[in-house]
Amino acid sequence: MWRHYLILSALLSLFPLICFPQDKNPDNQLRGIIRQYGQVEVTIPYPGLKSADRLSRNVSILSVKDNIIFISLSPLTVEWFINQGFIYSIPEHRVVRGIESATSSIQAMNWDKYPTYPQYDSIMQAFNMNYPALCRLDTIGTTIDGRLVLAIRLTGAIGNEADKPNVFYTSTIHGDETGGFVMMLHLADYLLNNYGNNERVTSLMDNLNIWINPLANPDGTYTSGKSITSPVRYNAEGEDLNRNFPDPETPHTIQQKETADMVRFLKKHRFVLSANFHSGDEVVNYPWDRWPRLHADNDWFYSVSRKYADTVHTGSKQGYMTFMDNGVTNGYEWYLLYGGRQDYVTYSLQGREVTIELDNKYITPSSQLQSLWQENWRSMVGYLENALFGIRGKVVSAVTSVPLKAQVFIAGHDKDSSQVFSDSLTGNFTRMVSPGIWNLSFSSPGFRDTVMSNVEVVSQQKIHLDVKMKPISYDTTKNGTPLLYPNPALTRFNALLPANLAGEITISIINYYGELISEEHNTYTPGFPVLIFTDKFPPGTYTVVFKNLIKGSSCNGRIVVIK
Ligand SMILES: [Zn+2]
Repeated sequence: MWRHYLILSALLSLFPLICFPQDKNPDNQLRGIIRQYGQVEVTIPYPGLKSADRLSRNVSILSVKDNIIFISLSPLTVEWFINQGFIYSIPEHRVVRGIESATSSIQAMNWDKYPTYPQYDSIMQAFNMNYPALCRLDTIGTTIDGRLVLAIRLTGAIGNEADKPNVFYTSTIHGDETGGFVMMLHLADYLLNNYGNNERVTSLMDNLNIWINPLANPDGTYTSGKSITSPVRYNAEGEDLNRNFPDPETPHTIQQKETADMVRFLKKHRFVLSANFHSGDEVVNYPWDRWPRLHADNDWFYSVSRKYADTVHTGSKQGYMTFMDNGVTNGYEWYLLYGGRQDYVTYSLQGREVTIELDNKYITPSSQLQSLWQENWRSMVGYLENALFGIRGKVVSAVTSVPLKAQVFIAGHDKDSSQVFSDSLTGNFTRMVSPGIWNLSFSSPGFRDTVMSNVEVVSQQKIHLDVKMKPISYDTTKNGTPLLYPNPALTRFNALLPANLAGEITISIINYYGELISEEHNTYTPGFPVLIFTDKFPPGTYTVVFKNLIKGSSCNGRIVVIK
């Protein structure tokens, strides 16, 4: 009898709360599930835009379908949610099913089982060791629980890597959206195996630096140890990392360690094209998530997203990746989201990022990893190829040929930070844009704005521009008008002034109606431009008056501010 008792207690300690406590109070039921699983899902009827906005700023919205909001709560957000008093339902908890762990990294590399964390680490090391000419293993950072967030760079032997645009794939920032993790490893393996044999792969790697981060949130995936048993969406502190990036309008500074590490990595490599792989639905989601308005390159975003989904459809079972507009959606049209990586990369780093939802089961069972690959690999390769097309070029000083960091702006088209910048070390820039005739303006401090007109962009083709910028020669000894540049200005401009204004000056900004809208003090040293910020001004034409209060000398000029 005692033996039975022992066996029973052992079983109970292994599965302490397999059934939810039958608490009549649903709030306590929520708390119970959170204690057991680290997260809980609830649904509420769509409460209107104002409440949805408030929810989006405080909890993780997973999806909106048929006027129902699906919400995920973590230990950090559950009490806030309970306090709001929404009438909610608790769907049946998704039991983790079908995850089979490989017994070795060799077995994991058949890509039909999930690797353990040590196997994952070994696989990344093996790529690096087996293909030293093509690979570079890097660490984006370390998680709160001390796991490494790894990335691998794949690039071909041909071409100077400094001249190749950087592109980036990353997956499983939500630890329980597991399919993309194996897809990324499988893709790295596929590219390495086919370099030199397959023309398409070879061209891709000879022309791009392809960075792959298979697992952005290892603490969420490997919650309890080395294999995947009870993955959660959140990081070790219960934060949703894809709601944690700085928002364009209300940047916050409190970031999780994983987010801060990722931001540093993104800023270092300035990816021209990227995608963040998730699961939970089956759709390609493009910016913006946080604004109802459209990105300046909305047509381009739609077409590359459409192509991803359409290519999937050619090789998939019927009904796969057909959510929203047959597998494609604008982010806001689906649901409002703050702090996502896609908007941060696209707005703050002038990148082009989409979010790809691979599987409406959050956890892809091991038995379906191969079919998920078959359905997506062509699209994964094809999406990266977008970085080979559009406008590429190099910006240098016309006098010294030194590469320049310049703003590359399409007048009458760019808005909401959609312009790009050339790299300060190489002068290279990539501007992917829809087919058409475009006028590009280049501006760089100390250089005259340069315009390249009637640049024709043709679908699936690359056009190369050599841009030589002339340094500004401004004779400060001649009294007259100031030199204001770049003009038009986006967020700031420089002013070079006649020498008779040297010393303490006031700078007055006057709008079209003659109203003084800003006045500031500064010190002017001839030859050194004064920097004036315009990010608080609405778009328009302004008169700028510079006055030396002691000498009484003054001058004025006009600046156009655009957004
Ligand atoms: Zn996700």
